[in-house]
Amino acid sequence: MKVHEYQARDILRSYGIPVPPGEVITSIEQAGPAYKKAVAEAGLGEGGLAVVKAQVHAGGRGKAGFVKLVRSAQEAEEAARFMLTHKMVSVQTGPEGLEVKKLLIAAGVDIAHEYYLAITTDRKSRRNVLIASSEGGVEIETVAHNNPEAIVKTPLHPLTGLQQHQARTVAYKLGFKGKQVGQAVKTMMGLAQAFVDKDCTIAEINPLVLTPATAAHPEGQVLAIDAKFNFDDNGTFRHQDILALFDPTEENPAELRAHKFGLTYISLDGNIGCLVNGAGLAMATMDVIKLEGGEPANFLDVGGSASEEAVTEAFRIILSDSRVKGIMVNIFGGIMDCAVIASGIVNAATQIGFKVPLVVRLEGSNVDAGRKILKDAAAKLPTLQAATDLGDAARKVCGAVG
Ligand code: GDP
Ligand code: MG
Repeated sequence: MKVHEYQARDILRSYGIPVPPGEVITSIEQAGPAYKKAVAEAGLGEGGLAVVKAQVHAGGRGKAGFVKLVRSAQEAEEAARFMLTHKMVSVQTGPEGLEVKKLLIAAGVDIAHEYYLAITTDRKSRRNVLIASSEGGVEIETVAHNNPEAIVKTPLHPLTGLQQHQARTVAYKLGFKGKQVGQAVKTMMGLAQAFVDKDCTIAEINPLVLTPATAAHPEGQVLAIDAKFNFDDNGTFRHQDILALFDPTEENPAELRAHKFGLTYISLDGNIGCLVNGAGLAMATMDVIKLEGGEPANFLDVGGSASEEAVTEAFRIILSDSRVKGIMVNIFGGIMDCAVIASGIVNAATQIGFKVPLVVRLEGSNVDAGRKILKDAAAKLPTLQAATDLGDAARKVCGAVG
């Protein structure tokens, strides 16, 4: 599960990590007042620096023009108008882009240097790892690719987690000096604690910034000005506070609907809809479709115990995708009863109708009853072709789609 930056900032604050004040808005008119409030809370006067940031479940906002520095209520409003009326296209959104519904208006900071900090799980060493770099900011992927030695990785002990001395070592490696070291250590310790407490899959601050020296802060301040948290879906049941942050408007609607019916559905770019039982078989089905030159439109695992209603819903979801030009059903009935699938097909045919070619391969549990149900409903299923095996099914559906 993903959350927005403003929610991630709140989590950082609750772990004692300093974050500039800010407010979320959903309309252009709110931008001016939110600007004034953010600069006032930061102790900045008229003309103070603030930042307007799109709140979407994707990164790369800075490069896409969806993080804008502003110095007046009017500039804040202009930035808000742009972001709320244009789709954001970044390296993480795909070419169709994302609609922006919420903005964060936060106090801006002057930056002397940008750093990168993250905790995630390293599957190779089977440990959590602290990843840090003094080359943080919007180019971190390029740094990781071209200059990997600029990234410091510290494996964390499974029981004791990040230790103070490890965090200090990293802070020195990043180049922090004097009082900055303590501030950087506190940030790393807080981030590591949040990662474990909240069952995260990633907890990231990019950039963590050092502000220039001022009279009030002669050594500068270490502040988090962007944050990202992803949570392990298998752990959210024990974090009601995190579940409460879920924003359904950021999710793919078809995937949400499927989730409600206990179906695992992931939308893809191709034009052959797939309905399969079991994740392994679903992957194999996609592979075989590709082998025959086709492109799957989705991954759909109905699982072992789907009801007729869930199977009907699965077809409804597949057919609601206008790119789907053919459907392949591949069921190897074990716990799954082929008759349930066949009845789901007939229901979908009755309720929605299959206008695209439908290729069905049924094997296993109660297959004869399943085949009979389909045969009896042949009049409702003019586009249906039966397949003898997986290869035959893939060839038939790819051939039909062309
Ligand atoms: P991202 O591109 O989605 O990761 O968005 P970020 O919040 O990380 O912002 C991108 C970049 O904008 C940062 O790396 C900074 O260089 C710049 N930026 C963001 N907030 C501020 C700010 O308060 N002051 C200044 N000077 N720059 C900022
Ligand atoms: Mg960032």
